[in-house]
Amino acid sequence: MSKPKGLALIRKSDETHWVGDGFPVRTMFGYHDSRFDMSPFLLLDYAGPAEFPPTKERLGVEEHPHRGFETVTIVYSGEVEHRDSSGGGGKIGPGDVQWMTAASGVVHEEFHGVDFAKNGGVFQMVQLWVNLPKKDKMTSPRYQTLTKSQIKNVDLKNGAGVVRVIAGEFAGVKGPAHTFSPVNLWDIRLNKNATVDLKLPEGHTTAILNLNGKVALSDGEKINEAELAVFNRTGEVITLKTEEPAMLLLLAGEPINEPVVGSGPFVMNSMEEIERAYSDYHQGRMGKIAPQST
Ligand code: MN
Repeated sequence: MSKPKGLALIRKSDETHWVGDGFPVRTMFGYHDSRFDMSPFLLLDYAGPAEFPPTKERLGVEEHPHRGFETVTIVYSGEVEHRDSSGGGGKIGPGDVQWMTAASGVVHEEFHGVDFAKNGGVFQMVQLWVNLPKKDKMTSPRYQTLTKSQIKNVDLKNGAGVVRVIAGEFAGVKGPAHTFSPVNLWDIRLNKNATVDLKLPEGHTTAILNLNGKVALSDGEKINEAELAVFNRTGEVITLKTEEPAMLLLLAGEPINEPVVGSGPFVMNSMEEIERAYSDYHQGRMGKIAPQST
């Protein structure tokens, strides 16, 4: 079978690890992984789908820092509560996105929402790390809550489904996210027996994560659940076909051709900057989360 047009490789992750005690994730790629340069993207963690019983505990990740990039959290099922040292925070639920620019540094915490924890249920989320250009790495942190109602739906032709434009543009409709470099992020919901042609942005790193359902590319290669198809940067038109409904996340971004030097929660351009990040964090220069007012 010849490789479908544009497809570079399919990544799978068989191993689930816990981020804190709230997020059982499969890391689809990380910035230390050299199989394919995913720039401007640094990491994609796919959490769940996993069933959580009702609990009064706070499940999640205690306070920790980030510097040099953005974390984008997309909730499909469940709720995430976030608070950070810049005073940002809030709760997001299914269909909502939290776009946090760590930039010069934030300290934040990420937990399951209290109401979700109380009732229990299925938790499903994606966290994507987007790199910042060198010139923006030390800019001020900012926080964008992109609610379900702010994210516009574009109907695909022939009732094939819907594209929710989180960032970038699809069919002339722009997403609400402000980004530092060109990034497209589309939440794609396909109906059964759908055929859809997508023009991939030329020169961009493009990948499609399958969150639910089976999807075939032209020539029959399948993207199964929890697989990430990575495409060449040649700007092809790809064809997706479904037999059953499917939920996909497409990420595309212009590569940032600058050195990537990372360590844990910090991603900079040099080792000196990483050392400075650790020392700034340990000396409290990334701030503190304000005590919760209840
Ligand atoms: Mn974090």
